[in-house]
Amino acid sequence: MGKYSVPLKILTMIKRAPLFLIFFLMAVGNSYAGNLPRHYPVPGGIAVIELGRHAPDKATFNKNKVLVTQSNQKWYAIVGLPLSTRPGKHKLLVTDKKRLKQISFVVNDKQYQTQHINIKDKRKVNPYAKDMDRIIKEKKIIGNALKSWTPVKNISLQFDLPVQGRFSSPFGLRRFFNKQARRPHSGLDIAAPEGTPVLAPAPGRIVNTGDYFFNGNTIFIDHGQGLITMYCHLKRTAVKAGDTVERGQEIGTVGMTGRVTGPHLHWSVSLNNARIEPKLFLAQQYQDTLQIKP
Ligand SMILES: [Zn+2]
Repeated sequence: MGKYSVPLKILTMIKRAPLFLIFFLMAVGNSYAGNLPRHYPVPGGIAVIELGRHAPDKATFNKNKVLVTQSNQKWYAIVGLPLSTRPGKHKLLVTDKKRLKQISFVVNDKQYQTQHINIKDKRKVNPYAKDMDRIIKEKKIIGNALKSWTPVKNISLQFDLPVQGRFSSPFGLRRFFNKQARRPHSGLDIAAPEGTPVLAPAPGRIVNTGDYFFNGNTIFIDHGQGLITMYCHLKRTAVKAGDTVERGQEIGTVGMTGRVTGPHLHWSVSLNNARIEPKLFLAQQYQDTLQIKP
């Protein structure tokens, strides 16, 4: 008996190996889904706030519901900080077992660069009175799409780049169109030839598509818990509201519809209705330019 016990043991281990491997891969898969973005508490950034060992009932920032996720058996709130956030002390409100608690965190200052753009189509800078009706209506539709909330549990907070191309205009630029101050740049511009495929950076559901005065042909993807991505100036849209999309699925092509100076994708990432730096969801190499302090 003793003579064969060791080989037998090895044999049983080998037999069980696929099961161990499956559990191991499941664990890796879960930790991937729970991988957190960097804590980058600046206007236009993200605050990653530890909440403890069990899931809270609800977390809110400035009355907006906030995404919560689990990583290494701990729960975290992932708070989008609008570009208009004042540097200084802020509060996250957490409802936990029907008790309300406040968690304070500090938002640091960040100076974004200034850019002057010359738009030949004067109407896209100072729209006609009749354009204003359309713009106001569209602002509501776009606002509603960005406010979507779907209770998805395993949200991927790691995005693939939606289009291959040159980063032509960074997020947060303080912009002047024909010397007139306009709202800061709420997304990342990626220049690519017309017709280049635009791919879903992570799984989600299409909230809405439309053709808007400034944004041109636009698609919104809801990734869950207030994480919404927006794709503008498209030539063609390949999806419609209600469709579910997989990571890497083609949703449309790069174009130059709306207010543009050339073909590019304007890509916005919205979290708790705050437009934030899209690079925070991309691979490390893309985040290097942000110079995030550890
Ligand atoms: Zn843009």
